[in-house]
Amino acid sequence: MLKGRIIFMSKVVKFGGSSLADAKQFKKVADIIKADEERCYVIPSAPGKRFGDDTKVTDMLYHCYDEVVGGADFAKSFAPVRERFNGIISELGIDLSLEDEFVKIGRNFASSAGRDYAASRGEYLNGIILAKYLGYTFVDAAKGIFFDNKGNFDGDITNACLGAILDRTPRAVIPGFYGAMPDGSIKTFSRGGSDFTGSVVAKAVKASLYENWTDVSGFLVADPRIVANPEVISVITYSELRELSYMGAGVLHEDAIFPVRSANIPINIKNTNSPKDAGTLIVPTGTEPPSKYLITGIAGKKDFSVISIEKDRMNSHKGFMRRLLQVLENHGIFPEHMPTGIDTVSVVVNSHELDHQREKLEERLVEVVKPDHFEIIDGLALIAIVGRGMRSAKGTATRVFAALSHADINIRMIDQGSSELNIIVGINEGDFEKAIGVLYDMFMLSEQ
Ligand code: ASP
Repeated sequence: MLKGRIIFMSKVVKFGGSSLADAKQFKKVADIIKADEERCYVIPSAPGKRFGDDTKVTDMLYHCYDEVVGGADFAKSFAPVRERFNGIISELGIDLSLEDEFVKIGRNFASSAGRDYAASRGEYLNGIILAKYLGYTFVDAAKGIFFDNKGNFDGDITNACLGAILDRTPRAVIPGFYGAMPDGSIKTFSRGGSDFTGSVVAKAVKASLYENWTDVSGFLVADPRIVANPEVISVITYSELRELSYMGAGVLHEDAIFPVRSANIPINIKNTNSPKDAGTLIVPTGTEPPSKYLITGIAGKKDFSVISIEKDRMNSHKGFMRRLLQVLENHGIFPEHMPTGIDTVSVVVNSHELDHQREKLEERLVEVVKPDHFEIIDGLALIAIVGRGMRSAKGTATRVFAALSHADINIRMIDQGSSELNIIVGINEGDFEKAIGVLYDMFMLSEQ
């Protein structure tokens, strides 16, 4: 008989701020964790909003820090945060006091521990409460998540250290959003960064799944502010998600997929308030089931401009493109798309990149690129129609064009990524909502 260790597959579960906003939500979270014994590693955010115009604890902490730096009394300024955490503890009925922690935080504020330190205390304190409530070990993220001297996340060291710590800790709560600099000071990720922490932990423990629990039942095929009751995307690949997120569809922090993607770990977006919903599963390309629909999602953004350049025999002017790109780079402008003709090139850029430098840019372009004609046209919106299903299917572009032309929408630019995963169209901003609506109808309603 083969002897050996039984390999226990663990899941990493991250809960967002709204999932841990008060004691009622904590109870839902504990029920979810206890319902599956593989849910061994838990990443909490700080308590979020309990109602529409409530304030997230992270924002309270930033505010408190600014007040204290401005000379306010710590105890007074910190009181609302203290109350919030004490309220959760007393409603949960657990035997825990954070008073010593509050004193320590006050001392560290006084010794200028910094704004990142202040903001990180929301996750830190919430983590202590959740660990106590679950009976899990609390592991401070500052002990296993590291940044280098330049302040960049250090994936290799983190993976090794955190992996070693969690290897000997079978069930743990690790607060999201922050880690430590080489000198031991605290640094946070950008806002929403607990999603990233969850992904880092999932990689370190070689999890079978990273569950990201939030307050929606997954990604939607289109923006619900534009399309009424859009369908939930049941399975999406990492690559498709990148395309959609880039175009503005966001539930996850934009960096969160990278650690798990490199380790082939799927992510499941789940709803704490409706845990039976399947949510959205994000999987590596090649492991996805065939999709029910030709497309996976539609997303778009406004506020693009086109720098349109005409030059006779453009292609025979050596170095033309290089000079054009150099001028743009020198002005901190990074092209989103560059459709070209024989004697024309259109550079699609974010309009805000042109702010305060239009005239200078125009002068430089005339001087260096010497176009026969050129103009900057504002008011462009881009829409991405994304789907792995379109790779093997013919006629997707035809349907995009038919839907838009039938709705009397003029297409000003077309781009298809070389991966054949998306088709991007540029249209007038005024047609944006209408275009998303007709594309949704064309691909989702007609295929039911
Ligand atoms: N609490 C932090 C924020 O509000 C981090 C997070 O929730 O992921 O951004």
